[in-house]
Formats: sequence, structure tokens, C-alpha cells
Amino acid sequence: MLAPERVAVVDHAPQLSDLTPGRTGNLSVRRDDRFAATPTGVPYDGFDEEDVPVVTLDGDVVAGEMAPTSEVPMHTGIYRRLDAGAIVHTHSTWATTLAVLGEELPPIHYMITAVGKRVPVAGYAPYGTDDLAELVVSEMEAADSRACLLAHHGLVVVGEDLPSAVENTMHVENLARVYLQARQHGEPAELTDEQLGVVQEKFESYGQ
Ligand SMILES: [Zn+2]
Repeated sequence: MLAPERVAVVDHAPQLSDLTPGRTGNLSVRRDDRFAATPTGVPYDGFDEEDVPVVTLDGDVVAGEMAPTSEVPMHTGIYRRLDAGAIVHTHSTWATTLAVLGEELPPIHYMITAVGKRVPVAGYAPYGTDDLAELVVSEMEAADSRACLLAHHGLVVVGEDLPSAVENTMHVENLARVYLQARQHGEPAELTDEQLGVVQEKFESYGQ
């Protein structure tokens, strides 16, 4: 069941080690009404394809030797309402710094268009709850963004597939760092809606 997706989880999970402390991150990739997700309680390189849990959009585990991440409600909540093929969640340092300040990531660099025109910040709710999922999905819909900061928690990024979701997580983390470092030296100007629109058109035509 979902063999290619479970292999993708095994292949990409180790990338979380560079992005998030300990075992605080998770990721998933979807096919139709099911998704393969990282298991809970094991290192990112400590499981294989058969261990990878397969979960329905109702949150039922239907395959896999190991239990899924505690953030299943956030993954099901996002897949049920957004057009997403994969999800990456981290506590990456710079994005989380913005999140604990309760600040969104504004468009100070054109690469933000990899995920939208800004990265909003969702209010706090305990991890692993439907309340958190609702806050995140609502902010992503309102901002038309493929990424969202989670107040006092971290970052979630969606993509059409797992490689793009992982890459866009790295972009957001880097931009959060650039933004916070730039603010040590001045007040960075924001790109205009029109300027961002031009970049979005270029990405759609030629790629990044
Ligand atoms: Zn988390």
C-alpha cells in the first residue's frame, strides 16, 4: 500500500535532521485519500518502508509497523482542505524565532514566491490537536500561502510533492534568517504586490 510514497518518506526523512532539533519534525506524502507519514519516536534514519504508517484522511492508520507522528491531525486537516501533495513540519530555528515573536514573514526577498506572497503566523494551540490544524489551515487559506508559522511552535510547509515541500521549507527557513538578521541593521523594505506577481509569473513560465 502506497509503496512509492513510503519509500519517499524513508528517503526524505533524514533531511529533517538538518532542519529541526531532536525528533521534533515530521513529514508526509499523499496519494488520493491516504498518506504515508514519518513514524513517531524513532530517529529519522531508524525505520524502513514497512515501518512507515499509512493514514487515511480521517486519521485511521491502515498500514505500517510503527505508529505515526503525533501531528496526524495537522496533516489530515491540511490534506482535507488544501491542494497539497506533501507536508513538512519543523521547529527550524529561524522560522521558529519569528513564530515565537508572533510575527509573519513579510515579502523582503523574491524567493518568498516559492510559497506565496507572505508566510502568515497561526495562533497558538497545543501540538497534535484539531484546534491547531484549524488555525493553520485557516491562515494558509486567508494568506493564499503554502507555508505557515505556528506561534510558540514552528513551521509547516506544503508542496505538490515531497522534494518541493522539503526545498520550500529550506527557502522559508533561510528567508526567516535573512529577515531577522537584516532587522539587526535596519528595516528591510517589502516587495510590492506587483513585483511579487511578476516573479510568480516567471516561476510559472520557466521555473525557479
Ligand atoms: Zn511541532
